[in-house]
Amino acid sequence: MESVYEQVAELIAHRQPCVALTGAGISAESGIPTFRSKGGLWEKFDPTVYASIEMFRKDPSKYWSIRGEFIRNYDTTSPNPGHLALAELEAMGLLRHVITQNIDGLHRKAGSRSVTEIHGSLREIFCVRCGKEYRAPKIPEGTPPLCDCGGVLKPNTVLFGESLPPQALATAWRESGACRVMLVIGTSAVVQPAASLPSVAKEHGAAVVEVNIERAFAGADFFIEEKAGTALPEIVTEIKKRNAIQ
Ligand SMILES: [Zn+2]
Repeated sequence: MESVYEQVAELIAHRQPCVALTGAGISAESGIPTFRSKGGLWEKFDPTVYASIEMFRKDPSKYWSIRGEFIRNYDTTSPNPGHLALAELEAMGLLRHVITQNIDGLHRKAGSRSVTEIHGSLREIFCVRCGKEYRAPKIPEGTPPLCDCGGVLKPNTVLFGESLPPQALATAWRESGACRVMLVIGTSAVVQPAASLPSVAKEHGAAVVEVNIERAFAGADFFIEEKAGTALPEIVTEIKKRNAIQ
């Protein structure tokens, strides 16, 4: 009897293209608090208020009082073995694309090149008045930080109440419909459109592998109940073993 890791390695090696969908769970091991994590930032500050476009327009200092620290310390957060394993799979030619709900930029830091950040990224920051671009962590002092022109700066992320960037959304749907294996990693599959993408993949004939500490997608063909930082390197190791044998 093959282990689930052997079976998933076999699947990825033989059924291409493979696409990954990632959520907050993969970044939890890098110390990024999720909306739902206990004792985290968002237990004290309701994200639907503090990270809403309505509040941002009314009082951007509220948003910046929550997010400013992460953005100013952008260079200090590091990808974990889960992010690195996905980057390695891509380099091996076995992962075509990463669709992520995360705004922390860790997939790109890990070396993944083909990435769609459907909720945007805290790395890119724009002046709402003149459109000048800033890059985390290099932003002016102040809460909220202001552009040279006096305009308020806003990260290029999708706040509650804003619609998703159409191009990113289109890519996410296209990649989900075209893949033959989808890895669903650390997402609670509650927030749209991420909640629908595994179903889109399945409807188009893909096998779905979920890696999560708690099962979220009932339709998964394989479920690995494990942290991404443990499970994904294990999958890569199994693929390498197979390659060594052949
Ligand atoms: Zn400006």
